Amino acid sequence: MKPIALGLAAALVVAAPVRAEVPLAGEQPLIKALVAEVSAERLEDTDTRLVGFGTRHTLSETASDTHGIGAARRWVASQFQAMSEACGGCLQIQTPSQTFTGSRIPTPTAVMDVLAIQRGTTDPDRVVIISGHIDTRVSDILDAKSPAPGANDDGSGTSAVIEAARVLSKQRFPATIVYAVLSGEEQGLFGGKVLADYAVQQGWKVEADLNNDIVGNIHGIGGVIDNTHVRVFSEGARTNESPEQARARQSAGEELDSPSRNLARFMQALGERYLLNLEVKLIYRPDRFRRGGDHLEMLKQGFPAVRVTEAAENYTRQHQDIRVENGIRYGDRLEGVDFAYLAQVTRLNVATLAALAAAPAPPSEVDLQGAVSPDTTVKWRPVPGAAAYRVWWRDTTEPQWRYSRPFLGAAHEATLAGVNIDDWFFGVSSLSADGFESPVAAIGASGSFERLAPAGPPAPFAIPPAAPMPKPGR
Ligand SMILES: [Zn+2]
Repeated sequence: MKPIALGLAAALVVAAPVRAEVPLAGEQPLIKALVAEVSAERLEDTDTRLVGFGTRHTLSETASDTHGIGAARRWVASQFQAMSEACGGCLQIQTPSQTFTGSRIPTPTAVMDVLAIQRGTTDPDRVVIISGHIDTRVSDILDAKSPAPGANDDGSGTSAVIEAARVLSKQRFPATIVYAVLSGEEQGLFGGKVLADYAVQQGWKVEADLNNDIVGNIHGIGGVIDNTHVRVFSEGARTNESPEQARARQSAGEELDSPSRNLARFMQALGERYLLNLEVKLIYRPDRFRRGGDHLEMLKQGFPAVRVTEAAENYTRQHQDIRVENGIRYGDRLEGVDFAYLAQVTRLNVATLAALAAAPAPPSEVDLQGAVSPDTTVKWRPVPGAAAYRVWWRDTTEPQWRYSRPFLGAAHEATLAGVNIDDWFFGVSSLSADGFESPVAAIGASGSFERLAPAGPPAPFAIPPAAPMPKPGR
């Protein structure tokens, strides 16, 4: 039986079930050890420091050392710097920025992200990212002066990013891990755009962006208390597929198997393996209904990305002036963050980043043959560094991969005798010699983890940049 969100404290003791078979190789002692390192106390210390900057509104002051978004960003950079000194310079700190103007940014404002980059040992161009946004807001989107603690939105996600960096920077991984603290989310996902553009400029092969936004509250608006679930939102059809790619996807019925969706399934499987009392709830949407987050900018650039958000949101604690009205305490205060729960969500992120960065890349160019025959043949392009592959399949109405067969060595195709191509969805994962397994990649461009770059020039951003247009004839 699946746990359900129960009222009041009852949900506190609901245990997550364990599925019989999940798309992972055996339990990895490294991941167990890393997960155990995550500290609720550290997360609380970090979030308390962030709240202490008064407001972190994107338009707030940047000169002060104690107040506003500039001070907050510099403090985050100093935390990454201290971690880097502790790991022999393993983190490179970068602060990409772009200047934006628009309805939510009345005067040209530099939106700066703070990135800590932990270079991979053997596959440094392959990149996995954890992101959260440091900027905050109150009721008036343009109010850059009022106290805007943003303890949960998104002090929780920012604290998770910093804690993941502290834990993971003690290890080395084949692929690169990027810890991304973004700005400008509330004004229009600008920091997400800065990150996505930077990733394109750097030529990163981004395999995953885990965007943590609102991940620390357990008291839902309707009275439900839920500290045993976390939602992972993932798109179906890829944001910028071409008409031709859309036709190929439609003819194969592959709308449920984007790389982002298979990343979410990977997280669910890791949660079952490594975490007690936290279950990933897969949400088949890019984000909450008609709402957005920074990962959407990564999707626009063709990178796999998911949004991680608490199970039960509380809207009296988001985007609100600090006040008491009819006995309700409005505002995004520290009291609205459950740090034991935030630690669980952070553990899920740490397990996912470590598993992705330790495994080979997922196979690409996955294809099927076997129409009008009793068997199915699955083909894929071999992956550098992969010691084995696993072919996965599941019923077309099933949310998680169920059946699998391993294929060793240089295999790049496999025939499943008696498995009818029409009745199942198929995918392939790759495994390292030490047993780390990638997410499952489904067929074609719609299922590949490789970047699906936007066709033609990048779509114009909704809010134009600050530079005035030159006058005709000049
Ligand atoms: Zn947010």
